[in-house]
Amino acid sequence: MSGIDRVRLRQLAAAARLTLLGVTTAEPFHELAALLEAHIRAGHMAGLDWFTEERARFSADPRNLHPTARSIVSVGLPYWQPDIVPPDDGVPRGRIARYAWGRDYHATLKARMRDLHARLEQELGRPLEARFLVDTARIVDRAAAARSGLGWYGKNTMILVPGHGSWVMLGELVLDIDLEPSPPLRPKCGRCTRCLDACPTGALIDAYRLHTPHCISYLTIELRGAIPRHLRPLMGNWVFGCDICQELCPYTGAAAPSADPDVRPERIEHAFPALHWLLRMSEEEFRAVYRGRAVLRAKRRGLARNAAVALGNVGTRADLALLEEVATAHDLPLVRGHAAWAIARIAGADSLPALRAILDREQDPAVREELRAILDDPPPPRCQCAA
Ligand code: SF4
Repeated sequence: MSGIDRVRLRQLAAAARLTLLGVTTAEPFHELAALLEAHIRAGHMAGLDWFTEERARFSADPRNLHPTARSIVSVGLPYWQPDIVPPDDGVPRGRIARYAWGRDYHATLKARMRDLHARLEQELGRPLEARFLVDTARIVDRAAAARSGLGWYGKNTMILVPGHGSWVMLGELVLDIDLEPSPPLRPKCGRCTRCLDACPTGALIDAYRLHTPHCISYLTIELRGAIPRHLRPLMGNWVFGCDICQELCPYTGAAAPSADPDVRPERIEHAFPALHWLLRMSEEEFRAVYRGRAVLRAKRRGLARNAAVALGNVGTRADLALLEEVATAHDLPLVRGHAAWAIARIAGADSLPALRAILDREQDPAVREELRAILDDPPPPRCQCAA
């Protein structure tokens, strides 16, 4: 062993502002490789084209990335805090998943792991080879967290950490020293199926099995093109990620609030952005508001596309003028097409003349195809939005 025991490691981690951790060896995650390969072959990761079977095998062995790796310190950043309340101003707003409210967790976790690494080097009096992984898919964060006893797998495929539920961001510090491993925890979902029952798109097809192409998180963040029309009515007002399978979990309901300033939103747009603003924002406004935040990953085109779908799902006829303006004149074709869908979603058959007029003026082939599809088969109009 390295000479650093569990207690000392926790002290050093706490000094680096890492309060949750577990330790495992750098042995391959054999079961994970087989599971991921089967998952990919079944089409449950369709759309994540970079995550191939080869990548899954590579990811499942930490030594592919760090040949002298001996241990993995799995760290967690808890991020739950009491709800911030959107202003009661009648403005239709989107929702951003809680993990993205604060500063970009990749940067936060990596900075803290670098701090821990420096403290370990100082303690041992020699350089340590290390890798700092957050969401890299080179090793899978959740597998390391489960084997290290940081948390256990819930049926919603998230890692549940005692005292925090799944409101925890994960990272790994891979080191070339032997540290004492911590034992895995026993899963505690029991007979509960709340997350499986509540997923609006049915993406949780079974316990511990997520069909990624239907997950609202995937649709709003990773998917670059058009959102499948049959899934749009099921997405509510989520514009970046989704927390539904976490919010109703009894373990997340008992989460302790985080006082960490890095996980707090600094303005309302970081948690509940106004949908009209998202549909009108310029590239400069988008970059200024979301600088240093995970939301940048969706890009302006993705966020505005999602806002159009959300407005279709929660807007009223009072929003139709803005949507017609967006469907006609937005600079991004993807957004124009989704705004046209939102018009039909709100106004049903009443919207068809306006959509035909938009089609007459539209030049982009993909938007024309979207408009024709909407005119041929309009989405189910919502009944609660009369005038
Ligand atoms: Fe497990 Fe229930 Fe939480 Fe789903 S909602 S992760 S089944 S405890």
